[in-house]
Amino acid sequence: MRIGAIEAGGTKFICGIGNEQGVIQDRVSFPTERPERTLANVIAYFKDKQVEAIGIGSFGPLNIDPESPYYGYITSTPKPGWGNYPLLNTLKNEFDVPYGWDTDVNAAAYGEAIWGAARGLDSCVYYTVGTGIGVGVYSEGKLIHGLVHPEGGHVLTRRHPQDEFAGHCPYHRDCLEGMAAGPAIEARWGRKGSELPADHPAWEIEAFYIGQAVSSVILMLSPKKVILGGGVMHQEQLFPLIRKEVLHNLNGYVQSDQLLAQIDAYIVPPGLGDNAGLAGALALGLKAVEQA
Ligand code: ADP
Ligand code: ZN
Repeated sequence: MRIGAIEAGGTKFICGIGNEQGVIQDRVSFPTERPERTLANVIAYFKDKQVEAIGIGSFGPLNIDPESPYYGYITSTPKPGWGNYPLLNTLKNEFDVPYGWDTDVNAAAYGEAIWGAARGLDSCVYYTVGTGIGVGVYSEGKLIHGLVHPEGGHVLTRRHPQDEFAGHCPYHRDCLEGMAAGPAIEARWGRKGSELPADHPAWEIEAFYIGQAVSSVILMLSPKKVILGGGVMHQEQLFPLIRKEVLHNLNGYVQSDQLLAQIDAYIVPPGLGDNAGLAGALALGLKAVEQA
């Protein structure tokens, strides 16, 4: 089978072709410009590829309600040109195939559940910590959408006692994303996260915030695996710090061996590495074929 996959990001678009084993056979990437230009690139890429379906994991917020006339739109993003943009319809007008359509993070959670760190499990939560913070939720064998879709990057947080940073979210100021996404780290310390040494105090503060979010998600959704991806999570020293925060916050209350004895295998990086998003989109495309 030849399935098309699109990881539609706010910074770059990645398009690829893969098969039902999750093998990505070809991929290209281009910067996210205005939508007409970006979609022209996407359409040119798939033009002669003869794909049987296309799966899309997109930055949002999105409309993923199949009953809505605005299904397939990117909705309220401040990104110039992309607000109320009918991304899915633009592709449907070009390629008459089944489509999978979901948030980038739901796609990544799904890809991880099929082929990655949560393979064989019927639930996982996927966080991306990058330019923003997003959360994808797979539960009882299904991606969760609910009213709109989860927006767990914007949950409110308790402040680190030594942190005087005001917060960087234009909507909520000191929500999780406002305190812990890549741009917040850069604004707090005056240097990009990638330029801070592994023993810099930034990482303890970062783990304090991510650890809060992860403890809350464990209490709220009881996922069988928590996967942390995105550019900031390339700082591998964060993983032990976050696990420690989570154990501290839960304080023995949640009685599970996965947490109490095997947390190193419970809070993990993506099994698919930086392919999680594209492989997730591929998995959405495959699902669309099965359901067609
Ligand atoms: P996006 O969220 O745009 O899809 P990324 O997941 O790569 O892309 O996130 C980009 C953000 O992550 C930027 O704010 C960048 O400074 C930060 N970042 C990227 N790589 C690293 C790294 N190795 N260490 C710390 N921060 C990083
Ligand atoms: Zn916010």
